[in-house]
Amino acid sequence: MLPYLQKNVPLSSYSTFGIGGEASFFLPCKTIDDLAGGMSWAEENGIISLVIGHGSNCLFPDQGFPGLILHNELVSFEDQGSGFFVVEAGYSFSLLGVQTCREGWSGLEFAAGIPGSVGGAIFMNAGAHGQETSLPLRFVEVLEHGKVQRIPRQEIRFGYRFSSFQEKKGIIVRAGFQLQKDDASYSRQLQMLEQRKKTQPYRESSAGCVFRNPPGCSAGKLIEEVGLKGTRIGGAEISPMHANFIVNSGGATSAQVKQLIDLVQSTVLEKRNVRLQCEVRLI
Ligand SMILES: Cc1cc2nc3c(=O)[nH]c(=O)nc-3n(C[C@H](O)[C@H](O)[C@H](O)COP(=O)(O)OP(=O)(O)OC[C@H]3O[C@@H](n4cnc5c(N)ncnc54)[C@H](O)[C@@H]3O)c2cc1C
Repeated sequence: MLPYLQKNVPLSSYSTFGIGGEASFFLPCKTIDDLAGGMSWAEENGIISLVIGHGSNCLFPDQGFPGLILHNELVSFEDQGSGFFVVEAGYSFSLLGVQTCREGWSGLEFAAGIPGSVGGAIFMNAGAHGQETSLPLRFVEVLEHGKVQRIPRQEIRFGYRFSSFQEKKGIIVRAGFQLQKDDASYSRQLQMLEQRKKTQPYRESSAGCVFRNPPGCSAGKLIEEVGLKGTRIGGAEISPMHANFIVNSGGATSAQVKQLIDLVQSTVLEKRNVRLQCEVRLI
């Protein structure tokens, strides 16, 4: 048995939506050995496993997760000089963005206010304001079959909210970012943060944008045009502030959020002939 293994842990506490039933097993992982031990324990016992960072892009099911959740809590941070930063995957992506910009480094301005981990940001290729995680990234270290392998940036495929990690099994454990000197980066970041607070329901429980923007248009604009802004099912609501956000306005269930997602997809398909794809991971 793993020393820190917990049973029946409510995933609502590990999701920015504040939604989700219990994980049958839950392992807080502070070291690579914890992650490797958890992965092999799950394999040996024929149990499914899933690594999570800050749960800011996940909708967990009401009935819970019938397997092992590995909670990535690896948080070391190294400033290696000349704008090169090496951080572990559980480190706060927002904090990384703020710390580096304050020191006059450019490349991660957009990260401020994204409530994910570095691992989750790489996995999702998080982005905003024309920047994305993959651009300043130089390498990623991945744990697979008990071994850590360093993968150079050029060997990883990235796209709009896509990384090739979405097609593989490994766990991202560490990454290196090369940033560029730019004394205006911090003031640019403050403007981006201001814009975020003005246009997004930033203080409410959500998982950020629910749908990917279809090529050449905005998912939020389409949802607004078909008249769904402000629509509620139970405690789940399409934000009156930003139609691509679904918020948990109190007591929402995963099923209610899923019903709103289905309603948006079918209405936008019927009225605008556009098939919206989920950006949020439906676990
Ligand atoms: C208010 C708000 C604003 C947001 N704004 C933005 C934005 O501007 N731009 C944007 O792109 N996103 C945004 N998001 C969405 C979200 O914050 C990002 O997608 C973030 O990168 C997810 O990181 P996480 O650690 O929370 O991932 P999680 O939700 O924990 O996990 C997401 C996926 O990544 C996988 N994963 C996580 N860590 C690892 C790892 N170490 N190794 C392998 N797989 C892993 C998980 O298995 C899961 O499939 C926003 C969310 C909120 C709530």
